[in-house]
Amino acid sequence: MILIFEPDANKDQVLEKVRQYLDNFPNVKLKLIELEGKTRKVAELHLIGPTHEIRQDILAAMPGVERVIRISAKYRQIGRADVDLVPVGFTYQGLRFDQKSLHIFAGPCAVDTKENVEETFKMLNELGIHTARGGAYKPRTSPYDFQGHGASCLPWVFELAGKYGIKVIAMEVLRESHIEEIQRALDEAGHPTGVMLQIGTRNAQNFELLKEVGSQNEMPVLYKRGMGLTLEESLNACEYIASEGNRNIVFCLRGVKSQLGLPHRNIVDFAHVPVVHRLTRLPVCIDPSHSIGSKDASPDGLMDIFHAAAQGVISGANMILVETHPAPETALCDGPQSLTFKEFERFVRDVEVVREAYQKRLDTYSRSVIKDMTIQEAA
Ligand code: PEP
Ligand code: MN
Repeated sequence: MILIFEPDANKDQVLEKVRQYLDNFPNVKLKLIELEGKTRKVAELHLIGPTHEIRQDILAAMPGVERVIRISAKYRQIGRADVDLVPVGFTYQGLRFDQKSLHIFAGPCAVDTKENVEETFKMLNELGIHTARGGAYKPRTSPYDFQGHGASCLPWVFELAGKYGIKVIAMEVLRESHIEEIQRALDEAGHPTGVMLQIGTRNAQNFELLKEVGSQNEMPVLYKRGMGLTLEESLNACEYIASEGNRNIVFCLRGVKSQLGLPHRNIVDFAHVPVVHRLTRLPVCIDPSHSIGSKDASPDGLMDIFHAAAQGVISGANMILVETHPAPETALCDGPQSLTFKEFERFVRDVEVVREAYQKRLDTYSRSVIKDMTIQEAA
């Protein structure tokens, strides 16, 4: 249950009254949350626990209470209960991330050499792209595979990002100390860029790590769906992040694991883009690289990676995470699915075509709805 305060309410007085009423419900906990609303600051009191017997009308009648919403879905923070008051999405590094925007985050799976990173950032800059990916900490299936350079590469990665106008880099973290290392390196470099902290599919239910990324507000979080989790389980994991205070989350679909997906690395789950839009207030990212896992193409010439990305973009995806490398055959991680720069440029053009088609779908649909309404009104 969520209680929304009137804009000029005396919150302490309201809280006092609510507490008095809740004396009868000792297992219900209170959490005060203040958000930047569409036209004003919005203060919400979240009632957490067994609230089914709490009388909504009694709370709603208290002075200083604008309204009380009973939340039936589990997603009290990432859900859409207060969507009319609080805008969907967030701004980071001057870029808007919401359910209408679209950003391409491209780069290597793992940061390897300075030269490769510099070439990548330069190429992105030339294409007018200011968002990149590149892992410093890599969770690998085998302990003998390259695990990433760790903190040692952060200073030069951030410096190069600044040099080429990269505003945000998506970077996976595996433990709390990685968040601190990134924060420190950004501070020491003077914040030439920003970082979106990535929670990889292997940590999708690492609740302690989710709480850690949620309890800082400096950097947004890119949460990757668990490869063996239902959508609901993954959304609940996002709720862990948000309930610690950080609502700046992008939800990433990256395919789910099953032999039924072969020959793709995972089964593409991009039909869930509109579902996540509907259930939550989160922007939705798609990751065609890890969904597909190869650069195989169909007889029409387009790679499966292009086709999969198109499926997400035509449904309104807001971010694409895609791997590209100047020399994929030398990449230390995920070379077989990494696009060359030439292929990446074609990929970007294809995304533009599909994005335009999505906008056309929306226009055509809304024109048809308006036409029906006009006919009904005239009748
Ligand atoms: C990645 O994006 O670098 C990655 C490891 O992806 P995932 O966690 O989805 O496997
Ligand atoms: Mn990868």
